[in-house]
Amino acid sequence: PRTRSALKDAIRTIPDYPKPGILFRDITTLLGDARAFRRAVDELVHPFAGGRIDQVAGIEARGFILGGAIAHQLSSGFVPIRKKGKLPHTTVSIAYALEYGTDEMEIHSDAVKPGDRVILVDDLIATGGTATAAVELLRRIGAEVVAACFVIDLPELGGADRLRALDLPVRTLIEFE
Ligand code: 5GP
Repeated sequence: PRTRSALKDAIRTIPDYPKPGILFRDITTLLGDARAFRRAVDELVHPFAGGRIDQVAGIEARGFILGGAIAHQLSSGFVPIRKKGKLPHTTVSIAYALEYGTDEMEIHSDAVKPGDRVILVDDLIATGGTATAAVELLRRIGAEVVAACFVIDLPELGGADRLRALDLPVRTLIEFE
């Protein structure tokens, strides 16, 4: 709990970003705090240390920073899930709902071997729309998604429960209303 409140204190809140009425949870302050960054990564990987994780999949862009560190810690590979048009080789793509409209994300179709055990990583889960689409992409290319990890959960928006309904264990470290 002390670690968790220290992590929470390392998050900066920006009112009215990117739009009026939104409270944006800014993790750059956590990333810039060496102890908090290490603790966040250590806590996220804790349940998986000693087990076999073949790949860590990170969602662009903040999921790359955490996912790269987690992959290193677990001696796993890293797989980027990117916005449409950024990956150079053959991709599988999926459209997903945003608050207004839709967006598309992609993964290289050969990014995992069939049956690879994969952890999905992003900085924050809100409605779960982004993470649900990422899980779908990973499953389509043959990954066994064993868990999804986020530093921040906004539980009132229901995303973590949505992932658990897909039979996926979800690990989060701190919550904001
Ligand atoms: P969801 O699809 O679960 O509604 O939204 C989660 C996605 O939006 C994640 O990729 C996350 O990085 C981004 N996101 C939404 N709100 C915030 C926020 O307040 N802070 C940060 N750091 N990311 C956010």
